[in-house]
Amino acid sequence: MLIGIVGWRGMVGSVLIQRMLQEEDFNYFETRFFSTSNVGGKVPETIQFRGSRVLADAFCEKSLADCDVILTCQGSEYSRKILPSIQSKGWNGFWIDASREFRMQDDTTIILDPLNRESIETAIKNGKRIFCGGNCTVSCLLMAIHGLVKNDLVEWISSTTYQAASGGGAKHMKELLNQMGKIYKCIDTSLSQDNFNILDIDDSVLNTQKNFTAEELSCFNVPLAGSLIPWIDQDRNDGWSLEEWKGDVELNKILNLDQEGIKVDFTCVRVGIMRCHSQSVILKLKQKLEIEDIQRILNEANPWVEVVPNKKAETEKRLSPLYTSGTLKIPIGRIRRLNYNDLCISAFTIGDQLLWGAAEPLRRMLRILCDENFAEEF
Ligand code: NAP
Repeated sequence: MLIGIVGWRGMVGSVLIQRMLQEEDFNYFETRFFSTSNVGGKVPETIQFRGSRVLADAFCEKSLADCDVILTCQGSEYSRKILPSIQSKGWNGFWIDASREFRMQDDTTIILDPLNRESIETAIKNGKRIFCGGNCTVSCLLMAIHGLVKNDLVEWISSTTYQAASGGGAKHMKELLNQMGKIYKCIDTSLSQDNFNILDIDDSVLNTQKNFTAEELSCFNVPLAGSLIPWIDQDRNDGWSLEEWKGDVELNKILNLDQEGIKVDFTCVRVGIMRCHSQSVILKLKQKLEIEDIQRILNEANPWVEVVPNKKAETEKRLSPLYTSGTLKIPIGRIRRLNYNDLCISAFTIGDQLLWGAAEPLRRMLRILCDENFAEEF
């Protein structure tokens, strides 16, 4: 089996390769690495795999069509251009995609196998070929509330997010760091003085933030360091951002629910942190449950979810992007009943959006395809 990987150098792609090396996935297949910007260059020596070390051209359809599976983390624009074209020329391999491009197409399965392995297997058996990772916030939320949705206990969800800069990709992370650096430089000397004047420092910081150059704002358009942006992705012109819209439609698609499924409302906010998406969630349940029962149901659902007791010290330690970053853990805490309705509970959850929110479902999909039950597909 030959796997083609496109977009391995980006934010999601780098984390994917890291995980594939940890899990020794490259032993299961031959791999061809593609590039859109460095054709003929070399795959870094740190990546151990079977196949050529020379980077193939990600726009060469012949080279792509040799692959039984193409896994892309290159982004929507690339997918939009390549997949229809190679399929129209007869390529019938599996397309695994981190981008949103084909997620809502009828013949596409959104992959999050701890929750929908059955749908994935059925799709493979039915000859479906397109498998897309879900929106990062949706996948992380579903991993957290897996137990409640599995037991059909959720009527609606309202979530306000705190999404990291890395959600936008490698260049966005760099932009945040450059802004942080510039802010620090402007107050470095004043801060080191014992008798610093905090209002002067505050003024300098504000002044720096308000005067970033266009180049320093090229990814986020407005300052993110020391600030936040309550809008992510395109404007749908109906009051919802595209990111918020994805929450409702993708969550229900992953769970294979129809229009009577779970109603989902997101308010998506970009914050100046590096990695991990956090969410403050309100859930309306279909029946009144004791908090201890909710915690047990959540804890038992999958090996990665961690219920954090609703206590200050535990919350500070374990319910944070720093605790979660670079791990597959999905902490969920601050679980309590809301005053205004006995059926409503609130919770706070965090997931590394580059792992469960992006790379992990993709690499697990590769392993599902390697499973002996599907070997005949190749
Ligand atoms: P990204 O970091 O911008 O990487 C995409 C491509 O940009 C890379 O494959 C690379 O292509 C090129 N690139 C240009 N300059 C680069 C640099 N300095 N460092 C690294 N790569 C550079 O994008 P991404 O965040 O990985 O997102 C890829 C797709 O996954 C998107 O469709 C996104 O919506 C989706 N997604 C992202 C996240 C997330 O949290 N970031 C989560 C879920 C889904 P070449 O090597 O060919 O030049």
